[in-house]
Amino acid sequence: MKILVINCGSSSLKYQLFDMENEKVMVKGLVERIGIDGSRLIQKVEGKEDFLIEKPMSDHTKAVGYVFDALVDKENGVISDLSEIDGVGHRFVHGGEKVAKSVIIDDEVKKAVEEYTKFAPLHNPANMMGFEACENLLPNVKNVAVFDTAFHQTMPKENYLYALDYKYYEKYAIRKYGFHGTSHKYITQRAAAILEKDIDDLNIISCHLGNGASICAVKNGKSFDTTMGLTPLEGLVMGTRSGDLDPTVVTFLMDAENMSTAEINNELNKKSGVLGISGVSSDFRDLEENANEGNERSGIALKMFANRAKRYLAGYIAELGRCDAIVFTGGIGENSVTMRESIMEGFEQFNIKLDKEKNNVRGGENIVSTDDSNVKIMVVATNEELMIAKDTQSLIK
Ligand code: ADP
Repeated sequence: MKILVINCGSSSLKYQLFDMENEKVMVKGLVERIGIDGSRLIQKVEGKEDFLIEKPMSDHTKAVGYVFDALVDKENGVISDLSEIDGVGHRFVHGGEKVAKSVIIDDEVKKAVEEYTKFAPLHNPANMMGFEACENLLPNVKNVAVFDTAFHQTMPKENYLYALDYKYYEKYAIRKYGFHGTSHKYITQRAAAILEKDIDDLNIISCHLGNGASICAVKNGKSFDTTMGLTPLEGLVMGTRSGDLDPTVVTFLMDAENMSTAEINNELNKKSGVLGISGVSSDFRDLEENANEGNERSGIALKMFANRAKRYLAGYIAELGRCDAIVFTGGIGENSVTMRESIMEGFEQFNIKLDKEKNNVRGGENIVSTDDSNVKIMVVATNEELMIAKDTQSLIK
């Protein structure tokens, strides 16, 4: 069975084709600058040169058309006919309270996507465009939506409500939804397999630390609490997002700088986080290099990131009661040896101990705690695309 996974952003599209016999990626590609000058597609197949298509792509339908051309291209493609694709899995961002698991896309799903576009105005419409393009060009193939929010629909009310007048939850559905659900779900499944534990009895804290970052407390294999909120802005300090702050900062800045809602949203999402603090970069490799060279603000940004993560980790350990493992994933979680060390520093007093030698790894699937640590600490490379492909496979079977 071959499953195509599509992840549409507002002007970009990432894709991977999986052969589900062996769960191997046959091809992956990226389309950039959809709807603007300089549209291009780059496709990568192991053992072949990168394949480039530079043609105007005015919308996502055009882009998906070129993705299909690239997949069946005689020299650079990997399949001879589009009928070899058995299903398409789409990454969707916000399904709100209407979608609690991966689903075959029908009218109800479309309605939910539309309803929650109010909280994901850039992502949900782009995700929808990717789906509609596939529906038009591959009318006989089933499309599955895998939502970033779905995994977190098991959170109890005390963890997802904001301490606002309850009427705003009822009137606007303002609450914590959580994101990165596909990654946290994948990490939960892998942790259960690696630790050889029944997933229904597994309590872990999954730390997805990438450009966007979130931590999820998983109780009995289900999301119990998470750091992101109504939108992916809440919680940890991120590459360019502020994460938690006193809400008064928002109203003050809007007044003081005469900012519109769009401008303050842009400020908090694109110009804040470690980029805002350091003034140097949102990339942790740059920050680590700069901090080592004595750049004070880069060092502060890294410490802020670690401290915010620590605060949530400690809180979630208490919320869970029993924690089997703390798992690091995402670009930073998988690769930054020093950030993992920095976050875990201070937990020794609870007998949760990182083994500095074992911690000297990048990616893969590794246990990096000492043998006598109360809680296992792990590094597990995430694979959201494979998770989407697996969910798609099981739904279209
Ligand atoms: P996204 O949220 O865009 O999917 P990723 O999970 O790919 O992000 O994470 C990207 C981030 O990972 C980069 O911005 C960089 O900060 C960090 N990163 C990648 N490799 C390393 C490394 N070797 N050391 C430290 N940070 C790294």
